[in-house]
Amino acid sequence: MIKYKELELIYSSFKCDKNCPYCTAKITKWPIKDDSLDNLEKKLQLLKDKNIKFKYFIMSGNGEPSLNSYESLEKIKNAINKINLFDEKRLQSSGNIFYEDDKFNLLKDDFMIEITRCYFDSKKDMDILGYNRDYINTDNFSKANIRLNYVMLKDKSFDDYLNEIQMFIDKYPNIKTVSLKTLNLNTFDGNIDNPYSQWIINNGLTKADSDKIIEYMSNNAKFKCKDEKFFDRYEWLYKGIPITFYVKKLDYGYSNIVYYGGELVDYHLNPIVLKNDNM
Ligand code: SF4
Repeated sequence: MIKYKELELIYSSFKCDKNCPYCTAKITKWPIKDDSLDNLEKKLQLLKDKNIKFKYFIMSGNGEPSLNSYESLEKIKNAINKINLFDEKRLQSSGNIFYEDDKFNLLKDDFMIEITRCYFDSKKDMDILGYNRDYINTDNFSKANIRLNYVMLKDKSFDDYLNEIQMFIDKYPNIKTVSLKTLNLNTFDGNIDNPYSQWIINNGLTKADSDKIIEYMSNNAKFKCKDEKFFDRYEWLYKGIPITFYVKKLDYGYSNIVYYGGELVDYHLNPIVLKNDNM
């Protein structure tokens, strides 16, 4: 059996209700495609036949996944429950999902919902990430299992990061895991030819800061495990909550497969070449 980290389904629509200054979708500008969700079950079966499993299924988008139709979300849910190759399923959301009761109720029991924050303070977070609804204080938010992606910006110290993470965990007991995020300059072709990548260079931590992050966290939180061979991951525990950091020393998406436009591809949109020597 071969175990990959993620199967990431990326919707093609660029619709989003946020305006993040580091937007990966706007950096990589993947071509718009028909999502061809009817192919999903067939592709999952192909992976199953090759004895491949995944730690995570991630529903994501070049925009906000929950702005797609209820029917399409249901189609995805049914396919991955029918051919379940995953330890855990996640939906990456701008926060919009918490305002759409039908879609939220469809997915909340099966999916961990991933939110991304730069600040504990909602007003500051809304200002920097360009959104205007404070989703973290909705009823639906409190009913979800949450993964917090915490983006590290240069205007704070490592002590500040850890303090803010502690505040999140103390205030929202439904946060089950935290992921420390550095920002990707351009995962498609590496070019810094756009304002979003430039913003990251000026304001964010990138994979060049990995060693500093590992050193600080190893001195200040309880170390749990380290796996650089395939999953490229460090994990610490803080008040029992895992804090994960993907080091990104391997090629971006090394242990991931992407479902995009009905095909299995890598992050350069090349047809996937399956690995067979990773476990
Ligand atoms: S939530 Fe995602 S798709 Fe929307 S603007 Fe932010 S980075 Fe881009």
